[in-house]
Order: sequence, then structure tokens, then C-alpha cells
Amino acid sequence: MKIQINNQEDLINLVEQIDNQLKENFFQRATSYWNQILKKAYKDPNLIDEERSIILLNPEYRFTVEDWLPKVEDNLLKRKLELLKQEFLRARVSSEPEVFALKNKLDYQIINFAPELNGKKFTRSELYNIIEKDDDRILREKAWKALTELGKEIECEVVLLCDLRNQKALPLGYKNYSDLCFYLENLSKEKLFDLFEQILDLTEEPYKKLIADCKEKLSIDKVSPWDIKYYQHKYLTSVSDSYFPKEEIIKSIEHLFKKFNLDMSKLPIKVEYCDIPYGGISLTLETGKDVRVLANPQEGYNWYEFLYHEFGHAIHNCFIQVPSFIIATGEPDYFKEGMACIFPKFMAEKYWLEEYLKISPEVINEFILQNKLKNCYWYRRVINDCLFEYSIYNNPEGNLNNRYKEFVTKNLFIELPDDFSWAYDPVYTTHPLYLQNYILADVIAYQTINYYKEKRGNIFSPEFLEFLKEKYYKDGGLKPWEEKLSDATGTKLKAESLIKTMENI
Ligand SMILES: [Zn+2]
Repeated sequence: MKIQINNQEDLINLVEQIDNQLKENFFQRATSYWNQILKKAYKDPNLIDEERSIILLNPEYRFTVEDWLPKVEDNLLKRKLELLKQEFLRARVSSEPEVFALKNKLDYQIINFAPELNGKKFTRSELYNIIEKDDDRILREKAWKALTELGKEIECEVVLLCDLRNQKALPLGYKNYSDLCFYLENLSKEKLFDLFEQILDLTEEPYKKLIADCKEKLSIDKVSPWDIKYYQHKYLTSVSDSYFPKEEIIKSIEHLFKKFNLDMSKLPIKVEYCDIPYGGISLTLETGKDVRVLANPQEGYNWYEFLYHEFGHAIHNCFIQVPSFIIATGEPDYFKEGMACIFPKFMAEKYWLEEYLKISPEVINEFILQNKLKNCYWYRRVINDCLFEYSIYNNPEGNLNNRYKEFVTKNLFIELPDDFSWAYDPVYTTHPLYLQNYILADVIAYQTINYYKEKRGNIFSPEFLEFLKEKYYKDGGLKPWEEKLSDATGTKLKAESLIKTMENI
């Protein structure tokens, strides 16, 4: 049936109708995912995705939005149309039935993967624990191989999925899926790769020293993937993990929230514990009303960082105050990640560490330096995997395992075993071309925090939270993120703040 839009009133009604449909679909998707992870009965995600694709791939909707966009003067309506236009374009890859069916199938395999070590089933967290803490190098190797075994099972289909995404992007006028993503995320490939280069350069010397020290301390010639976390845990921990017990994670978050005059019990955040493929996940069922955090905590600073990050997402989503779903969720992912990344940065502050841990400033200085060294590895790892992922979309042919090995040797100076598949990391399946968001997010977080500390004052204050709410959270995607950032910090996005924190290691 042809949609009849005679005036702006009709258009507003149509947009509201689409808005409500998308909101309901999003709610169903998040609820299904939540239940699936908690092993409860859940609605088939394929059905939900089919419903979503009916909305987003509706040509009548698309033509109407494209037709009216240049004619509309009202800012709010215009913004909704802009965001819808982008969503419609994105959907022409991700909401294609072949694409989401394969993705959901793989997602199911990832969630239900049951790793085995020496003939016994282990949870992912148990294996992470062995890789990080066990002195037995052979056992660590086995644990790492058990964890990454999944890659071999799903590799062929993950490549197929990447290929499918490319095929769908081609008729839309993009060379491949990664070019489409750059367009949709409003990102310049050149600028991003330039930022990567800067970070790789800046971290090269300290990282080389870290690798040399790892070889010496562990008496090994080559560093393997099951060595690096172990080394970091054993030798870059002037503050032991026991200062960060898993039972106290939530308490420590509540302690932080008190600085902002925030009472966790009054926020619409529900926390549950579960063994998941990540350190934690935050899920929003309805912005401002129903936000959930799934936590998979272990003892140690890293796990605190994970969960602080997820609470960063949760807080952001709690304080978005716009009724329109399209506007509320209309920010690019790296901006949303930036909001989450602000929270773990509190834990890296001397003030917080001194007050919370009650240990000497010398030990804390050492700890902060060690964390920067760990970040060198983290940034290089993210950049490495990100560059590798672009290479898949640019050229999915050839031996990808060999290619991944070359990337890892070049950027991480780590030797991978022959019998291995890169596809074990769920990110390539569930969050394609997402990794760069973590780097951009850190740039956004550092720029915000440094600006506030230099120009306004204490970040451990209710005023800082008010600043975040006012400048970043409350209006969702009403204004483009660059405008929000320069309005908040007085400058456009620049790598300076991040670069500054990585200097002098
Ligand atoms: Zn996140």
C-alpha cells in the first residue's frame, strides 16, 4: 500500500509510527539476548530480526524519508529523518535475512561453546584465570588453545559472513563493507589510520622493552599468546589483585557513585552475574527506564575496569531523556563507547587509588606506570586486530590465519601457534568493524576528562556528572556528536589528550 504523505503533519505521524516500531523491536531483541545468556526461555532472535528488517527495508519508508529530508525545516524532525536515512542504509547489509541468519547462528555457537581442557569442561572465566595466573606454562598453553578452539569450528562461516556483508555493500555503491561502515560512522579512514600510526609509533619503544622483559623474566626465546597476560599479571602488578576482590566490585562502584551524589538503588539499573564470553555486558531495554548489567567478575584490577566500563554505558543510558527512540539511540558507537570509557578512567586516577586502596603514593605511582605499559599492549592489540579486520573486507581471499600471524608478529611481536584460527574472537562475528571504536572512545574520554580537570576542577564531584549529563547524555543523538564534543571541551576531536597520557612511559 502506498504511503500517502500530504503534509508535515502526516510525516510526523509516520516518523512516530516507525519510531515506536523500532523501539518495540529493540526492546524485544535486548530481552531475547538477556534471556538467552541467562539460559532462560527466549524469543527466537531470527524472528525479531525479520521483524526489524521488515521495518528498515520497507522501500516506502525509505523513499518517503529521502523525499522529505531536503524539504523539512523543523530541526527535530529533520534530525530524525537524517538518522532514519542512515539506519535504512545500514540495514541494507545487516538486516538482510541471509546476513542476520548466519550471524545469529554463529552467535548461538559462540554463546554455547563449551571449552574442554584435559577432557574436562571449563568455563571461559576459569580458562582466562589459568592463562593469566597459572605458573605452569604448558597448562596455560592448553587453556589458551581450549579457549580459541572455537575459531576452528566457525572460521569458514565467519569468512562467509564477511563475504556476504561485502556482497551486500557493493550494489549500494561501496567498494566493500568497510567503506560503507566508514561512511555510516562518519569517519575518515585516512585520519583513523593516521591515529593508529601515531599510537603504534608512540608505544613501540616501551612495548619492545615490555616484550624483552617478558622474555627475560619467563626465560623464553619467543613470547606466545599465553605468556603476555601471565607476565603482566605476575610482573606488572605492584598492587596485587587481592586489593580488588570480586565480591567488592559493586561496592566500589557504589563508592564512586557517592562522589556524584548518585544512589545506585534509585537508578533503573539491574545487575546479574553470569559466565559470558566478555567481562561484562550492559544492555538497555529502554533508555532512561530499564538498563541491565550482566557481570562476569573475577578478582583483579582488569575485571574492575571491565565492569566500570559497562556501568559507564549503563549510566549514559539511564540519563538519556529524549522520548524518541531514534534520537535516544542516534549516536555513533564510538561516542557511546566514549561515554563508557570515561568510567574506568576514574580508577586510574591517583586520588581514587589513594583513597580507595589506602596505600603509599610511591606504590600507586608505580602502579599507574605499569597500567600505562599494559595499555601499550592493549592499544596495539586493538589496532592490530582492527587492521587485520579491514584487510579481510578488502581481500577475503588467501590464507587468513597466515595473514593474522604476520600482523601479530609485526605489531605485537608475539608468535602464534600453527594450529590456530583467528576467528575465535566473537567480535568479527557479532560486532563487525567495531574495534576502532575503543580507540576513538579513549580519545573522547581523555579529551573530556583532561579538559574538565584543566578548566573546571574535580572530576570526582556531582558537578562533573552534571556536566556529562548536560553536555553528552540528556539529548541523545539530537545534535551530532562532534558538536557535542566541541561544545563540551572547546575543541574538535584531537588525539592530543590520549597521546599525552601515553608519553614518558
Ligand atoms: Zn562498551
